[in-house]
Amino acid sequence: MIENNVKNILKEIPERNAFGEKITLVAAVKLQSAEDINRAIKAGITDIGDNHVQEFRDKYEFIQGEPRRHFIGHLQTNKVKYLMGKVHLYHSADRLAVAEELSKRGEAAGISSDILIQINIGGELSKGGFEYGEAERAYELINKMPALRVKGLMAMLPLTDDVALLSELARKMRALYDAFKKYDGNFEYLSMGMSGDWKLCVEAGSNMLRLGTSIFGARNYN
Ligand SMILES: *Cc1c(COP(=O)(O)O)cnc(C)c1O
Repeated sequence: MIENNVKNILKEIPERNAFGEKITLVAAVKLQSAEDINRAIKAGITDIGDNHVQEFRDKYEFIQGEPRRHFIGHLQTNKVKYLMGKVHLYHSADRLAVAEELSKRGEAAGISSDILIQINIGGELSKGGFEYGEAERAYELINKMPALRVKGLMAMLPLTDDVALLSELARKMRALYDAFKKYDGNFEYLSMGMSGDWKLCVEAGSNMLRLGTSIFGARNYN
């Protein structure tokens, strides 16, 4: 099942790719066993993303095939030290404190980190990230931090069936991304799209997807 899911998604992404950019599929691996993650990697997954530092550490040694590692979840500053040098891209700079900690630790270790600024595009109280109107200020402050490179933006769309609203928000994110990309050549990634909304996100110009359920099936929270 995992093999077929990966195969089908990897086939469908280019069919919807309207922008002609390389689109990266990141498997969101929270609560998945190392065995299932390895099956997904064998089937063609090149990038995996974790949400929880403890899980990341527990499974780290058991992952085969050297996929690129992403950190896609909310990150506590006191856990940053466990990730240093092991993460290809941090998706979720959702507040200044976490960026500051990444930069401070990175400077001490001589490691530069690539990060995305998380934007709360739906303006939801339940979600982290900078407000849409704060994006420029957040970029200015984070981009100045010595051991960080801002590589783009990340967003999680609201949980709703309102496709028109979702498409509108996804396009607004792409426009914001384009505005930054115009004056910062380091901008390369717009990380947007989960199992429920990835198709419309690709059509709106996302070039990095984070899929869990549609690769592994429903998560078992027990
Ligand atoms: C869990 C998670 C995903 C994947 O969610 P699915 O709906 O299972 O595809 C993507 N991004 C983040 C930040 C997540 O925590």
